[in-house]
Amino acid sequence: MSDTPETDAAVIAAGGDWSPVLRAVSQRLERQRDEAIRQLENLKASAIHTCHDQCQRPMCVLRRERDESRELAQQMSESNQVLMADVCFYRNAWEQLKEGAK
Ligand SMILES: [Zn+2]
Repeated sequence: MSDTPETDAAVIAAGGDWSPVLRAVSQRLERQRDEAIRQLENLKASAIHTCHDQCQRPMCVLRRERDESRELAQQMSESNQVLMADVCFYRNAWEQLKEGAK
């Protein structure tokens, strides 16, 4: 099937006697219009995007993975701080016990 169905239909409706130049211009304009519509639709889809947890757009998937990594790193950092505080507490307690034993 042609990528310029409206031009084809108009040529047929006119009895098929369009000049080749007019037909070529019409086909070019029809293709340009369709390309412009396609680009506009893509633009709208990316601008007005209602995202959700299962969204499979590559950028959205990457953003979720980045957020999960950040959250995990934050949790690990917090766990590490708690562990280090515990280590310091027990080391101090041990030092005090040793001092008291003398
Ligand atoms: Zn999304």
